[in-house]
Amino acid sequence: MAGKKRNFETDAVRTQNERTPFREHSTPLYLTSSFVFEDAEQARALFADEVPGNIYTRFSNPNSTEFIEKLCLLEGTEDGIATASGMAAMYISMASLLKAGDHVLASRSVFGSTHQILNVIFPRFNIDYSYGDLSNPDSWEKLIRPNTKMIFVETPSNPALDIIDLEWLGKLADKHKLILNVDNCFATPYLQNPAQWGAHLVTHSATKFIDGQGRVIGGAVLGKKELIKEVRFFARHTGPSMSPFNAWVLSKSLETLAVRMEKHCANALELAQWLEKRSEVKYVKYPFLASHPQYALAKKQMRLGGGVVTFEINGGIDGGRRFLNSLKMISHSANLGDTRSIATHPASTTHSKLTDAEREAVGITPGLIRVSVGLENMHDVIADIEQAFSKT
Ligand SMILES: *Cc1c(COP(=O)(O)O)cnc(C)c1O
Repeated sequence: MAGKKRNFETDAVRTQNERTPFREHSTPLYLTSSFVFEDAEQARALFADEVPGNIYTRFSNPNSTEFIEKLCLLEGTEDGIATASGMAAMYISMASLLKAGDHVLASRSVFGSTHQILNVIFPRFNIDYSYGDLSNPDSWEKLIRPNTKMIFVETPSNPALDIIDLEWLGKLADKHKLILNVDNCFATPYLQNPAQWGAHLVTHSATKFIDGQGRVIGGAVLGKKELIKEVRFFARHTGPSMSPFNAWVLSKSLETLAVRMEKHCANALELAQWLEKRSEVKYVKYPFLASHPQYALAKKQMRLGGGVVTFEINGGIDGGRRFLNSLKMISHSANLGDTRSIATHPASTTHSKLTDAEREAVGITPGLIRVSVGLENMHDVIADIEQAFSKT
């Protein structure tokens, strides 16, 4: 093994951490709010950041450290910090590095709460934003202003599954000396590593595929050492830390991420191919279908197509509502990234407050259904969709 980098699955399972005197095989849960100093000198050195170690769980804890060390290996990033939720990660990744007068360029279809941060919360602190359209990347450079500090994107986008070229964005960010921040929640580190293409920050909601079993909320900010230093300072003093219990759960979740994502993606592709042949469906969108407008780009920057499929059902808004009311097994929920398949109708739920034109701009057509494909047997998932089609 000497000199050879270990592989993804091994980094997700094996840690370098020392055992306690009990010689446990599985990492224990460190439910403690604080840690005891060895002596006055060690306490001084810890507070001066001269030696590694734990002081207080708001700053760090062995469970969150293990989770982050693994995630950094899986994403190829230098450093990182675990947060209480995905939104805590999105918020501190921006708030810790921006100040009044700054401007953020974001992809138009960001997660709803990220949109609220940019649209409602940051303007109170005089931080401005613009949205770039995924369908028109050539327009992005013109949206960069002298006070632009950060580019924030999600790819694949939710729920339209449009893809942004990360290599191109990495070059654009470097040309204008901007921080490129990529929310990699949909892809997970198994499918896509934005840092490889030049992202300076990689942000996650660990609540989705990383936990993958619908149990805990969590998030992470990963990236360059000098940026994470600022993010850590902000987090340490404002307190959005991940609980030891959630970190313990999520570190174990990472151990099965590769096998789960392989299966999620195989199941999603199977569903997408089945849907393409159905007369009840106007179009299907899935990054690894040859019919996806950015198929070649998806193949370039993603290992597999992901666990989410979207399709437009005939009958518009009413068709979408009837379809969801007719499902018997698949859960009707706004979440995604679970062992259980979940269907959502964005036009009547998550995006119902937008106008038709606003929905159109982010690729949400009236009968668009988003399916987060789970780990059930696909015969049963497809049978449920087929019987729901027969009623719509
Ligand atoms: C869910 C989600 C978030 C927010 O994560 P929470 O853990 O719910 O706070 C952010 N970005 C994307 C893309 C998400 O899907």
